[in-house]
Amino acid sequence: MSRRSKSAPNDGLLPSPDDPCPCGRTKYAACCGRYHAGALAPDAEALMRSRYSGYVLQLEPYLLSTWHPNTRPTSLGLSADGTRWLGLEIKRTESATPDTAIVEFVARYKVGGRAHRMHETSRFVREGGCWCYVEGDMHAAPRTAEQE
Ligand SMILES: [Zn+2]
Repeated sequence: MSRRSKSAPNDGLLPSPDDPCPCGRTKYAACCGRYHAGALAPDAEALMRSRYSGYVLQLEPYLLSTWHPNTRPTSLGLSADGTRWLGLEIKRTESATPDTAIVEFVARYKVGGRAHRMHETSRFVREGGCWCYVEGDMHAAPRTAEQE
């Protein structure tokens, strides 16, 4: 990863338009690629998927821009943490009002050769037409796949 240029740090990681989207739904250009390029996600699930793909592709500016200002960290340090994302499964989506939603998901990943799963229910709100991530509740501490 040391050869990435400063002006366009993620160009080397972005999939081709016809590649499968990291979120697993369809081709990248027809899925999360649209939102990474600036289109507004139409609903919380689309935003959730595009944020998962953003983690896969280490699109830190995208992740921060889709994070609610009240809960947004200053940085994520994605390239240094060694996480390899393996897949996303959306379990449940609920909208209590037109501008709030929760998305329950399981994301699988590996760190240092060990498999983990993250089971989280995330809260999203729509402000000014843009969906953004507020915060999430973990369902259980991450466990290794061997323990399941
Ligand atoms: Zn996608």
